[in-house]
Amino acid sequence: MPNIDYAKLTVDYRTSVQKVEMGLWEKIYYPEIIRGLSITAWHFFRNMTIHTLRAFGMAREKRGAVTYQYPEERRPVHRRYRGRHRLTKKEDGSERCTACMLCETICPTDCIYITPEEHPNPGVEKHPRQYQIDILRCCFCGYCVEACPCDAIRMDTSVMELSDWDRTRLVYDKEYLMRDVAGPGAPPEYAPPVWWLK
Ligand code: SF4
Ligand code: SF4
Repeated sequence: MPNIDYAKLTVDYRTSVQKVEMGLWEKIYYPEIIRGLSITAWHFFRNMTIHTLRAFGMAREKRGAVTYQYPEERRPVHRRYRGRHRLTKKEDGSERCTACMLCETICPTDCIYITPEEHPNPGVEKHPRQYQIDILRCCFCGYCVEACPCDAIRMDTSVMELSDWDRTRLVYDKEYLMRDVAGPGAPPEYAPPVWWLK
């Protein structure tokens, strides 16, 4: 371990900026402004024309700049996108989670709250009586998913609507986390909810 006196360290932010030398054309300034405005105008009028033609049933093969018409049109996300958590289930519909507390322990934001209890089935040691995730505190690091030895928690729902008018509803409980939801990254056995298909 090097003996570093951190008090004497200074950061020269000027060295972290890559300087680009301007040529005469850029130094004159106005030609670049005109060039930038012409590029913006070209895209504006092109897209306006294409979208207007498409509104009247023409130029269907052309595609202008696209803005996703959310929420009717949803942007596809990668399979590895970390969306809202879900608790996976066994074939009998019960939770896979064995309340081992690993996810709660590793969570860097302390947003998982588990209350373990004895499982009524003597063949299963424990299960969570209560499993809550305070999604407002979650930083979506995925550590809980990585730590789980039972594949009991996943973040593959692709659900990104994590807002509400009431903060208390953003502490998701076990029943909510066990609901079947699906997104592009979710396994096919999880049927998409109705609002997804609308
Ligand atoms: S994704 Fe990270 S912050 Fe969120 S619950 Fe899991 S471990 Fe905690
Ligand atoms: S979700 Fe996984 S890591 Fe978390 S308590 Fe349950 S079994 Fe353990």
